[in-house]
Amino acid sequence: MLGQMMQTQLLISTQIDHAARYHGAAEIHSVCTGGGVEVTNWRAVGENARRLGSALAGLGLGPQARCATIVWNNRRHLECYFGVSGAGFVLHTLNPRLFPEQLVYIINHADDRVLLIDRTFVPLVAAIRDRIPCVQHLVLLEPQVDAEAAAALPGLRAYDDLIATGDAGFAWPDFDENTASSLCYTSGTTGNPKGVLYSHRSTVLHSLAANTRDMIGFSARDTVLPVVPMFHVNAWGTPYACAMSGARMVLPGPGLDGASLVDLIDAYRVTVALGVPTIWLGLLGEAQKSGSRLESLERTVVGGSACPPSMIAAFRDRHGVDVMHAWGMTEMSPLGSLNQPLAKHLDLSAEAQHRLREGQGRPPWGIELDIRGEDGASLPHDGKAQGRLVVRGPWILGAYYGLSAEDTLEDGWFDTGDIATLDPDGYLSVRDRAKDIIKSGGEWISSVELENLAIACPQLKDCAVIGVRHPKWDERPVLVAVRADGAEPTPEQVLKIFEGKVARWQVPDTVVFVDMLPRNATGKVLKRNLREEFADVLMG
Ligand code: AMP
Repeated sequence: MLGQMMQTQLLISTQIDHAARYHGAAEIHSVCTGGGVEVTNWRAVGENARRLGSALAGLGLGPQARCATIVWNNRRHLECYFGVSGAGFVLHTLNPRLFPEQLVYIINHADDRVLLIDRTFVPLVAAIRDRIPCVQHLVLLEPQVDAEAAAALPGLRAYDDLIATGDAGFAWPDFDENTASSLCYTSGTTGNPKGVLYSHRSTVLHSLAANTRDMIGFSARDTVLPVVPMFHVNAWGTPYACAMSGARMVLPGPGLDGASLVDLIDAYRVTVALGVPTIWLGLLGEAQKSGSRLESLERTVVGGSACPPSMIAAFRDRHGVDVMHAWGMTEMSPLGSLNQPLAKHLDLSAEAQHRLREGQGRPPWGIELDIRGEDGASLPHDGKAQGRLVVRGPWILGAYYGLSAEDTLEDGWFDTGDIATLDPDGYLSVRDRAKDIIKSGGEWISSVELENLAIACPQLKDCAVIGVRHPKWDERPVLVAVRADGAEPTPEQVLKIFEGKVARWQVPDTVVFVDMLPRNATGKVLKRNLREEFADVLMG
């Protein structure tokens, strides 16, 4: 017997319709690439999304044609999120920090038909234009195309002209909720990037989970600043979840430096901000310099890399901001866990509660986590056993774009490539990426744990711990560090920070100072490059 409830498809178009209908006046503040801030609202975003959807349909694109964007976080990009997917096309967000060769590979692999470009990236696209013949339409996300951009990219048309040909009364098509809605490629530290093709259903379910109170829980009373780029896992799903909750948004455009972010938070009374730890390092430093108390800010969602405990403490103690440490992956839409306490934790001492909040938290409904040993068997969830973290759930990928489920999953589970512990309540502690964990004389050393301690040292600005060859122990940890401005610590002084905090055999053997750490397109440290560069530092 089937249930007898209405069959409403879970479509992204329903999210923007809800925002436009019930939260139409909620403002969207958007920093323009050329300077200045535009103010719009969910009603206008909804109308433009419909105009864009109907204009794209008017181009004669086939169903699920890929429409790629290479754009900062701004309101036209927000309109693309809903207009492209709502009309039944696939929004493919491209990361401009990828190497041009990677962009060429991805655009051709995805068979992108439309490319929507921010003016910052006109030269980047011009340089690869003749290698992406699949792209039939080039659109500049501006009111007009200036002469320079027109000369660089023949055929380029302005977004505002394109949507002027569309209809604000366009009826969103109705289709199966399992239809593809958006596409992101993993940054791929080895081999070619792989595509993750989200569906309308997975996106809506992910948004619902993100909006629960023990997850991010956006509300109509929030003003949300997604610093995480809209080209990184759909800005962690923030635009969709904000539309569903009717939150106001502040879109930071190209300025992601500490000073610009402090100004935006203070000017627009931001209550929730989301981003990776390196971004918040800049913000905290700037707030200290300028004396801003970040008064309106209540919560930050920090993920993408491990959030150092010193950063959680700085937000809490200096600004009264609650850090919600979250973990996830492109392959997981991305939310897999977020750190909020249980009722039983409220009686713990403040210190014990703070310690509990340092890990990556527990999964929302929908996500199952398990850890596996080298033989593939499940390990105990006792907070001690560490193994490969595997996941499953309705917003986790079933197969990479163009690959089969057999090539992607093991027994119906997705292997995250992370090494972790799980406690009996499901609290996750990510120890390392499997490829970064250090094996010293048969014992495992977590590079993340050492980095979390090192970054608390005021004489360091940035750091990474890598495993390098050692004649006796096979591999030993080495701290690669960037000194804080004006500081001149010696390796011995730096290594003192580990004393009494980790077992002696876990302390790095030495420190090498560098001017800057190499990072990939999503801001993660490229440890492989460091391992190559410093492979022999311990070989005498
Ligand atoms: P990406 O798909 O580029 O977002 O990368 C996903 C990977 O980032 C995960 O597999 C983790 O290794 C890492 N990651 C994300 N969030 C966290 C976190 N809170 N703590 C530690 N590692 C994280």
